[in-house]
Amino acid sequence: MTETRLYSETLHPGIRFSFEADRLLFEDKTEHQHLVLLENRLFGKVLLLDGVTQVTTADEFIYHEMMSHVPILAHGAATDVLIVGGGDCGLAEEVLKHASVERLVQVEIDAAVVEFSKQHFAEMNAPVFTDARFELVIADGVDYVKTTDKRFDVVIVDSTDPIGPGAVLFTRAFYAAVKKCLKPGGVLVTQNGVPFLQADELTASIGHFDALFADASAYVICVPTYIGGHMTLGWASDDADLRQLSVDTLRTRFDRAGLETRYYTPEVHAAAFALPRYIEDAVEAGKSGT
Ligand code: SAM
Repeated sequence: MTETRLYSETLHPGIRFSFEADRLLFEDKTEHQHLVLLENRLFGKVLLLDGVTQVTTADEFIYHEMMSHVPILAHGAATDVLIVGGGDCGLAEEVLKHASVERLVQVEIDAAVVEFSKQHFAEMNAPVFTDARFELVIADGVDYVKTTDKRFDVVIVDSTDPIGPGAVLFTRAFYAAVKKCLKPGGVLVTQNGVPFLQADELTASIGHFDALFADASAYVICVPTYIGGHMTLGWASDDADLRQLSVDTLRTRFDRAGLETRYYTPEVHAAAFALPRYIEDAVEAGKSGT
């Protein structure tokens, strides 16, 4: 009898969350990272990069809807959007659901992840590759934001965790370069981990945002794949009002956009900025530099 192979996420020292690979669909070492795609009966297709879960077909809607619709609807008139990372292109698909978005640039360091995801995750990204508004740039996100003369209303950093190639996407130099790419009133949203297990990561990013932007905070989502409780998405803008829109305003914008969602609602959007105390503490620690 063959034993089902277990793939463990190695992100958090001290605990292991493992997927049974009902089928191992692909395993390879790309130029930048170790890539595994497996099929699990509960989570569907699961992509791991360097032993860290990136996306699953069962719960990607939570992460991708909240990373895209929250900043775009809060902004209210976003035409130019930049994604840094996001190789699986599930986030790009959600962004492009907004007819008001005229241009989406995605800067991803690893062409192999995009090519691979095009083949294996068509159910969540197929429309992206035929959308004339989509421009893919294969480059390090830091180099791109430092050198581009394009300007964006919304920048979304859909990065790996701050290890390997993703580490540079958590530095002040990177966020400062992002700020220069934002149009006035623009907003930055970042993948900022699970603060119950990685509070330092959130605190460090908030410290950088606070030094660079008038308004620095985070909002919460719950993604079963990213274990450890709430996940935080970092938020930085020079317009503090964008974080405090009423449910009525959000509802009007949401209805106008004609989106069909499974996690996002205008009520969830507004509520996501209410932070549990231990997360608020991590945010405040970033602001006070402790
Ligand atoms: N949803 C995921 C999560 O929270 O774990 C992140 C998904 S996405 C697959 C992360 C992407 O960031 C990967 O495709 C990786 O190649 C890309 N990436 C890592 N470092 C990068 C860099 N310096 N510049 C651009 N993309 C980068």
